[in-house]
Amino acid sequence: MFKKILIANRGEIAVRIIRACRELGIKAVAVYSEIDRKSLHVRMADEAYFIGPSPSTASYLNMEKLIEVAKKAGCEGIHPGYGFLAENSAFARKVEEQGLVFIGPPASAIELLGDKMAARKTMKKAGIEVVPGTEEPLETEEQGLKIARKIGFPILIKAAGGGGGKGMRVVREEKDLKEAMRACASEAKSAFADARIYIEKYLEKPRHVEIQILGDKFGKVIHLGERECSIQRRHQKVIEESPSPIVDEKMRKKMGETAVKAAKAAGYYNAGTMEFLVDSDKNFYFLEANTRLQVEHPVTEMVTGIDIAKEQIRIASGSPLSYKQEDVSWKGTAIECRIYAEDPENNFLPSTGMVSHYEEPAGPGIRVDAGLYEGCEIPIYYDPIIGKLITWGANRDEAIQRMKRALSEYHISGVATTIPFHIQVLDNEKFKRGELSTHFIQEEFSQGLKVTLEEDELKMVALFAALAEYQNKKRVQSAFGGKNSRVQEKENPWKMEGRRRGLRRFGM
Ligand code: ADP
Repeated sequence: MFKKILIANRGEIAVRIIRACRELGIKAVAVYSEIDRKSLHVRMADEAYFIGPSPSTASYLNMEKLIEVAKKAGCEGIHPGYGFLAENSAFARKVEEQGLVFIGPPASAIELLGDKMAARKTMKKAGIEVVPGTEEPLETEEQGLKIARKIGFPILIKAAGGGGGKGMRVVREEKDLKEAMRACASEAKSAFADARIYIEKYLEKPRHVEIQILGDKFGKVIHLGERECSIQRRHQKVIEESPSPIVDEKMRKKMGETAVKAAKAAGYYNAGTMEFLVDSDKNFYFLEANTRLQVEHPVTEMVTGIDIAKEQIRIASGSPLSYKQEDVSWKGTAIECRIYAEDPENNFLPSTGMVSHYEEPAGPGIRVDAGLYEGCEIPIYYDPIIGKLITWGANRDEAIQRMKRALSEYHISGVATTIPFHIQVLDNEKFKRGELSTHFIQEEFSQGLKVTLEEDELKMVALFAALAEYQNKKRVQSAFGGKNSRVQEKENPWKMEGRRRGLRRFGM
């Protein structure tokens, strides 16, 4: 087993991996950019090294620097987390060339599966059903039209190197195809430095169901069941759960075996995810593979009791899988709400600044994976995900009720978060019934957050607004030499009360 590893990441996922290291008795080395000097992952690590200016291209994406620090600190491996360099095969290769272990899959598998077209080809060859479409890049607009007609509209134009929900365009009518192809190719070129595009059938209102797999370096691969990730905004997951409300034992076995087959076809080891789209008849089609630890891995950990992050490190160090397929069982339901520093009332605009007040939920069945503390900064430079709230329940209803309770206990001030949005989704009747699709948010929350205040709440808002105005005046007076020089927001009982009543969104 390793003695020391470097975590080439930041925020909640760096914290998550530090926790895994500590439980394994491994020293965790953090890295940080200028703005992250005081971040939680830096505070928690055994050692921390400065790697450069705040923009990620100058720090968290600087391969040479990361490898140099890992060697200097005497690390044996590098865990990339998710995002940044996690799915960069060149980085994985460089790390290994320098005599360090990349804590993830082999570079060859990252390369193969990172190319959506190559992945489709591999899966088809292995006898796995993929979303109907092509595996060759579109050369001309005429060729695109021919293929689209054959597949039948609506179709989806996709970037071979796409990711993060970007580089996709739905085309419903022939007349829009050429323009969409042009736009998609140019977007793909600038976002992924790869202009190759291809066509897939656009499935109407599918579910996104994915299978977690684990494989060791000795050719053993197992699956840990599914996660339902249909609650998405702009093709990005917002809420995930395990098990999926539509997957029964038989379907889990079938999907699980398909995912294991897919992993083997790609020569995969370590943790990974095979994503599928499921149609209304429960047919499932391979969509793509994610060659890393997923944001939503905790829901699987909660229902299986298997620590995926620790297993990743064990596998990378050369240990065989700690589990056989028969050892894996599933208990209860786990749900995860991604907490983004975004304002759901203002078209999910990223929100940055200092977290002036921070209180985490606790109690039975609650897990918080966050990179936050009172006084920390949410910078503009990185992904807006600041934490994840996960609840476990003996069944789906209990997990939902717990999540509602936990969200109401989660107080974050200073930046806007998606907490109020989650509360509304959990209250949605369709959500409660498990009637989900990737169009759920678009259909149920087309206007974003629904502001539905009762009359007495409105009175409270007016009262708080008046008080805030009064206090502002007092602050201005004191700034010019008055008494009580500063009103500490943290200690202000009116604001605390406002927060408890869920009126944080009124900026109080
Ligand atoms: P990314 O790599 O950017 O995450 P994916 O291929 O995983 O892209 O797709 C992300 C999401 O986009 C899916 O979960 C689904 O909601 C939607 N999507 C992708 N392909 C299709 C398709 N062929 N039909 C319908 N929806 C799709």
